[in-house]
Amino acid sequence: MRRSEDPAARDHAVVLGAGIAGLCTAAVLTRHFTRVTLVERDRIKGRRAVGSARRGVPQSPHIHTVLAHAVRQMEQVFPGLTDQCLANGAVSAELGSQSRITYHGHMLPQRSAGIDAIMASRPFLEAELRERALRLTALSLRDGAEVTGLVTDGTRGEAAVRGVGLYPRRGQAGGEVLEADLVVDAMGRGARSGAWMEQMGYRRAPEERTRINVTYASRHFALPPDALGADRAVMIGATASRPRGMVFAAQENGTWVVSLHSYGNDRLPEDGQGFLECAAAIAPPDVMSELRRAEPLDPIAVYRFPCGVRRRYDRLKHFPDGLLAIGDALCSVNPVYGAGISLAAREAVLLGECLAAKGAEPLARRFFASAHDATHAAWWLSKIGDYSLMPNGLSPRLLGSAFRRLMAAAANDPKTASALLRSLSFVDSPLELARPRVLRQMLHQPTPPRPRTKAK
Ligand SMILES: Cc1cc2nc3c(=O)[nH]c(=O)nc-3n(C[C@H](O)[C@H](O)[C@H](O)COP(=O)(O)OP(=O)(O)OC[C@H]3O[C@@H](n4cnc5c(N)ncnc54)[C@H](O)[C@@H]3O)c2cc1C
Repeated sequence: MRRSEDPAARDHAVVLGAGIAGLCTAAVLTRHFTRVTLVERDRIKGRRAVGSARRGVPQSPHIHTVLAHAVRQMEQVFPGLTDQCLANGAVSAELGSQSRITYHGHMLPQRSAGIDAIMASRPFLEAELRERALRLTALSLRDGAEVTGLVTDGTRGEAAVRGVGLYPRRGQAGGEVLEADLVVDAMGRGARSGAWMEQMGYRRAPEERTRINVTYASRHFALPPDALGADRAVMIGATASRPRGMVFAAQENGTWVVSLHSYGNDRLPEDGQGFLECAAAIAPPDVMSELRRAEPLDPIAVYRFPCGVRRRYDRLKHFPDGLLAIGDALCSVNPVYGAGISLAAREAVLLGECLAAKGAEPLARRFFASAHDATHAAWWLSKIGDYSLMPNGLSPRLLGSAFRRLMAAAANDPKTASALLRSLSFVDSPLELARPRVLRQMLHQPTPPRPRTKAK
């Protein structure tokens, strides 16, 4: 069977998973398909409180900063989204000047870097995106529906995807088929497309993993946006000698979140007193005095993230017509770098560009190649950042040491700090950090101490 260049028709697209990637993708697809159905296993209509988690998004109670690149990509999908979020209570912050950032024990100079972020909880952000997506007349949401598998035609190893099987209500019998010209798997880290492809007789995409064992513990507090004056966030990374870091950040409507994180076998406290003691060992005194008098709004939530994963669909020679994967289903990096939303939104924009371009190559090949290019920098930045805490082998040791020198250089030189923050916000290419002026600054730094943390 010859693979077609594109979905044979553009009547109906189905997106599986209504997380950030699914919502952005479904909205983009309405520009190219007559109808788009967004299928979600959880019941998701209505708004949820700051610290709440629905079953399909257990990371929801933890800090979810929308970095500058993510803001710009999302604006392409939902024009005016930033103003809408701010009008509904989200906080805007230029992270270069309005946050205190400390990496490897070096506090960066506070100076504008042109990196405006949206600060709000994950349930808030999802609700805003969902509200915008559901305004699109071509888009309909099927929440509370369980995906059972793909509907395919053709012989093994050549088959194409023609739709999905659903249980209309989670856990109930009585299957239903949704026929589709394109199915996009946006089901997050637990995505099923790999297993489904194997059942269809295709190879699974090669998978790359970086074992990091990061644990998060988070809690929300009632505090006004100006609790720290003009500062909207304090971010303190783990160091070579202390495998713990934290973020204290303003969120929507008079709330702040504390997200502690730790590497390796280090267990974070899950009780209120222990949580504050752990924060006190990392945070500056003004943060602690605010926290000690603030009202906690939710129980402490804990989340474990064992490894970064990227699935190399771009390396497959054969891929079924009518199927794609996007967002965390494709590439998910250490959440400490706040890359996931940027990548998900960028991939959705790229998918729209691939559909508009109608190239000679099959859609899957074009999309996975451009998505790979778009995720490569984040994958490597996060990997090198992880090496700086847990080097295992010669090149990781050298790269990790270079990263620690870069942090020291940024603390001493505002221009290097700005270049660093723009790369870490994915606004500029990390190649900007390889410029001679930055390299010279790095060479002038004393040799940084070696880390002792192990991922396992
Ligand atoms: C602790 C933590 C903190 C993070 N902080 C940040 C941050 O500060 N900034 C940032 O940019 N990113 C952050 N991220 C990453 C971010 O959460 C994701 O990368 C981003 O949301 C994109 O994910 P996604 O939409 O692909 O998947 P998800 O958000 O996981 O959504 C997947 C969706 O698929 C649904 N689903 C699953 N299975 C099925 C099924 N069988 N049928 C139907 N639906 C299904 C789920 O219910 C869910 O709605 C963080 C991640 C973690 C773990």
